[in-house]
Amino acid sequence: MVKRMTVDSEKKPYPVMENHIEEDKQIIEGAVQIILSKPDHKFELDEEALESLLLQPDIKDRHVVVVSVAGAFRKGKSFILDFFLRYMKSKYVCKNITTDDDDWMGPENVPLEGFSWRGGSERDTTGILMWSEIFLATLPNKEEVAIILLDTQGTFDSESTVRDCATVFALSTMISSIQIYNLSQNIQEDDLQHLQLFTEYGRLALADTGKKPFQKLQFLVRDWSFPYEAEYGEIGGQKILDKRLQISQKQHPELQSIRKHIRSCFSDIGCFLMPHPGLKVATNPNFDGRLSDIEPDFKKCLNKLVPLLLAPENLILKEISGQKVKAKELLQYFKSYITVYSGDELPEPKSMLVATAEANNLAAVAAAKETYHAMMEGVCGGAKPYLSTALLENEHVRIKLKAMDQFSKKRKMGGEEFSETYRMKLESDMEELYTQFRMHNESKNIFKAAKTPAVFFALAVA
Ligand code: GDP
Ligand code: MG
Repeated sequence: MVKRMTVDSEKKPYPVMENHIEEDKQIIEGAVQIILSKPDHKFELDEEALESLLLQPDIKDRHVVVVSVAGAFRKGKSFILDFFLRYMKSKYVCKNITTDDDDWMGPENVPLEGFSWRGGSERDTTGILMWSEIFLATLPNKEEVAIILLDTQGTFDSESTVRDCATVFALSTMISSIQIYNLSQNIQEDDLQHLQLFTEYGRLALADTGKKPFQKLQFLVRDWSFPYEAEYGEIGGQKILDKRLQISQKQHPELQSIRKHIRSCFSDIGCFLMPHPGLKVATNPNFDGRLSDIEPDFKKCLNKLVPLLLAPENLILKEISGQKVKAKELLQYFKSYITVYSGDELPEPKSMLVATAEANNLAAVAAAKETYHAMMEGVCGGAKPYLSTALLENEHVRIKLKAMDQFSKKRKMGGEEFSETYRMKLESDMEELYTQFRMHNESKNIFKAAKTPAVFFALAVA
């Protein structure tokens, strides 16, 4: 028996998925809220739910493909994911080998089910949902893998803070092997800015391995309305992407840096242009997702897009630091990533990455300066005796190095180049402090020396 339900975090119990093992066990199918933002902007991981999904006996030891869709609210993310579900069911559950054509899309007049679309009760939630059914697939090289679908929820408006959005985007990017960045109408400069902020927020949480931290980024532009400029689909998408990510010396340095940053974060970046699905989809409140109400052009593109992401030959296995990840290991990654975001370690991202990076670097400068000051006080502070100039210089160099090291080790947003200015500021601030320490030290010496002329004077008059 297949029971459909959407499980939200308030309504336990969670589905126990054992459909791949025993036929007679109950299958509860639905979207499971695995990560939820709390009113205090802390994030909560539903470990129990996640375990019940990832530790199923026939899944836990398989390498995973994790497909996530992220982007602003009410732009058709869940809607398109439900077509992904249709494909997966047809291809990997029913093993329908004719999925090369559009059979997988199903009959014309059946409502579209799965992740709940059309907004409604999820209006205010921010978090990550996982589809309860994890699909088993065999790659062309015969490797047996598991495919996980993630839906994200987050508003980019004032109701949820930038930090919440950034966290959801960052977490889903860290966990997925393909992050689909769902955009409306075009790739705009502020979409790139958001992306930079969010990926930087993700990268900050990861140990720096020197490699590109994330795998595939797929821009998905909805309601593309300039097919004469760039045709629908992958090729037109590539054209637009190349244009938007192009770096030229004429650009403002900040625009150049956004583009470099995005390229440096993902091993592969693609773009797909989707046509408008038609007025029924966009505006009719009674639209239930049936194919007959969707424009043929949209369906044609859907039939190109979905296999491009989900056909066995196109699946991308999740890798972390170059290692393939098994379902049971993914559980551990979820756990450790969420702790990073629930602590106070990461700064609050501001609407502009630069603001954050600046504050971040300034804090690192202040902390390093404090270290320098405290250690120098210990060497030559008020109550300490006079030190020879050479000895003081030695101490200064040693302590300065220590403080510089502290500064470089501190996790900061913005990258090396951005930090360089602050590193120089730290260095000059410390030199200034050193001048003061040196003068103070000398004053102790002069005090000693001041007695000397008096002695000379006494001798002279004697
Ligand atoms: P989400 O918040 O991003 O998950 O958006 P939903 O999937 O819930 O969809 C929100 C609304 O957009 C629904 O009413 C859909 O019918 C509609 N929609 C879905 N896909 C598209 C699209 O490609 N273009 C337009 N204009 N509307 C769409
Ligand atoms: Mg949604």
